[in-house]
Amino acid sequence: MSQKFDVIVIGAGPGGYVAAIKAAQLGLKTAVIEKYKGKEGKLALGGTCLNVGCIPSKALLDSSYKFHEAHESFKLHGISTGEVAMDVPTMVARKDQIVKNLTGGVASLIKANGVTLFEGHGKLLAGKKVEITAADGSTQVLDAENVILASGSKPVEIPPAPVDQDVIVDSTGALDFQSVPGKLGVIGAGVIGLELSSVWARLGTEVTVLEAMDKFLPAVDEQVAKEAQKILTKQGLKILLGARVIGTEVKGKQVTVKFTDAEGEKSLTFDKLIVAVGRRPVTTDLLAADSGVTMDERGFIYVDDYCATSVPGVYAIGDVVRGAMLAHKASEEGVMVAERIAGHKAQMNYDLIPAVIYTHPEIATVGKTEQALKAEGVAVNVGVFPFAASGRAMAANDTAGFVKVIADAKTDRVLGVHVIGPSAAELVQQGAIAMEFGSSAEDLGMMVFSHPALSEALHEAALAVSGHAIHIANRKK
Ligand code: FAD
Ligand code: AMP
Repeated sequence: MSQKFDVIVIGAGPGGYVAAIKAAQLGLKTAVIEKYKGKEGKLALGGTCLNVGCIPSKALLDSSYKFHEAHESFKLHGISTGEVAMDVPTMVARKDQIVKNLTGGVASLIKANGVTLFEGHGKLLAGKKVEITAADGSTQVLDAENVILASGSKPVEIPPAPVDQDVIVDSTGALDFQSVPGKLGVIGAGVIGLELSSVWARLGTEVTVLEAMDKFLPAVDEQVAKEAQKILTKQGLKILLGARVIGTEVKGKQVTVKFTDAEGEKSLTFDKLIVAVGRRPVTTDLLAADSGVTMDERGFIYVDDYCATSVPGVYAIGDVVRGAMLAHKASEEGVMVAERIAGHKAQMNYDLIPAVIYTHPEIATVGKTEQALKAEGVAVNVGVFPFAASGRAMAANDTAGFVKVIADAKTDRVLGVHVIGPSAAELVQQGAIAMEFGSSAEDLGMMVFSHPALSEALHEAALAVSGHAIHIANRKK
């Protein structure tokens, strides 16, 4: 007889491993299946996020920012360092060590919570059976009351720029350069493209970003996107909008990229080219033909608001389903599904998922943008506070950007918080907490914030919504 579990999770990324831990915590007999092998050729949990996504990219962003500061801004503080040099293999090895520690940490958590781990490729069969194929080709079949599909996503490839992970790389290859490229091309000015561009630009690379759309960061609040484009351009990123890549030619260790823009066909030559044109759901060999699970028109597994698929007892979460491709969205869906399997009435607030671009300054947003609210015909009041007026930001010599609070003109309820500036990721979370509790701009304005803190910019932006900011001149109503 095959083993039977209350819950079997396929995929141990931030969606899957969190779902498995939560299910086990709720007393359910749980298994998780993962096949990914890390750099050392051993099973590595944590999915894209821990292995080749959120964490390694932030490790390189932090290293490169420290280099940039040592190179550019230490002297402002009176610190002299002599020549500052970057040893790229050491930077990359530090990143790899962080990944190893974290993926090992997930393995310990899985074990500590009593989740059974299976190594291999998981496939959902009819009748909530799950087949596991090990690396040697051997198979076993498990039975489940409930299955959670959490197979994640992988980079989109485009025919004009085939990835060879040497000269033309995807986001994974871009985390492992062993030296600083002289000239780098990046296809796609999305989150991943901009973060990776920043890493290498800070280390001295001449970076050109080719973006097919005419608009920069169209999903971000327009005022924030405009500021971001200005700041990143000033930092040295060459951002070409309306530039669609139509072909590449690799010659030796260089690549010539052909693209079209409003003026016609052009070409540029680079030492490395990063293809960062988005990610697509992973569903290869995940579902048997008679599993009964259906897909949506874009190739994601179809789910309802509670992540239930078309088959009762089968759920799907994270990047393999609709919605933002973000680790925290995946994890919270995992928690929600585990809770619902355990019989609780869990739900998720999809309107309040914060999103961050970890450039410097960071760009972070939660809730609706001003342009979206205007398009919906919602009258709003807006408060903006620039970090140039923040004592804490001045002390840190980090004054680019602002906090923007958008409130409903009728009710004063906060509908969006958008931040470009130092620690934007942390500040926007304060906005998210306030919004989750239905805060008005006035409520935020009446709270006591520590001084001096970057958070005071959120306080002042909330006050500015009604023209009551203290540390900037308020707009005349
Ligand atoms: P994944 O993390 O992709 O995990 C899926 C797992 O399932 C993988 O380990 C895979 O091996 C396994 N799997 C798939 N199919 C099978 C199968 N049939 N059998 C067994 N195992 C299987 N998000 C953020 O929120 N913040 C960030 O700063 C951020 N930065 C990013 C930077 C980069 C460079 C990239 C590429 C992504 C970044 N993301 C970030 C996105 C984030 O990594 C994803 O949203 C997140 O990992 C999705 O989680 P998931 O669990 O749905 O899928
Ligand atoms: P994201 O999905 O946020 O990671 O962003 C990917 C970006 O890549 C989008 O803004 C796309 O417009 C852009 N893109 C996709 N294909 C091309 C192409 N052939 N040339 C230039 N940009 C592209």
